[in-house]
Amino acid sequence: MERTLVLLKPDCLQRRLMGRVITRFEDKGLDFVAMKLMRVTPELAKRHYAEHVQKAWYPELEAFITGGPVVAMIVEGPEAIQVVRAMAGATNGLKADPGTIRGDFSSSQQMNLVHASDGPESAQREIDIFFSAAEIQAE
Ligand code: ADP
Ligand code: MG
Repeated sequence: MERTLVLLKPDCLQRRLMGRVITRFEDKGLDFVAMKLMRVTPELAKRHYAEHVQKAWYPELEAFITGGPVVAMIVEGPEAIQVVRAMAGATNGLKADPGTIRGDFSSSQQMNLVHASDGPESAQREIDIFFSAAEIQAE
């Protein structure tokens, strides 16, 4: 079993796509062990996107991710990290395969609806950034 951090980004909520995205994860058989509606602060954005803070486009990314509420969740299942990444699709919605969340609903490099951790270390790091132990439901 693996756990991965998923964010439904502000564009997902603004476009009222949250239910359809969550349904895809449910249909796949994944479990939710934590979930909250929240606002990402600039400080939290810099921690979460530490690998991108120096990039020329980081200020736009920070403005986007802090620009409206997000839903943060921990998704659990066999090989959940790569399964959820595959379901999200390539970063740029124009390049993401049809059948993926980004491929089906996004035509943007930035407004691509979901974040999904890209490996075991980032999953653990990001889960720790977004959730306390008390917020996680363990069976
Ligand atoms: P992913 O979310 O697929 O792991 P990256 O880690 O490369 O993608 O980038 C993090 C997020 O930053 C992307 O999901 C997207 O919202 C945004 N982003 C990526 N590249 C750009 C860019 N060139 N300009 C603006 N925003 C970008
Ligand atoms: Mg990434």
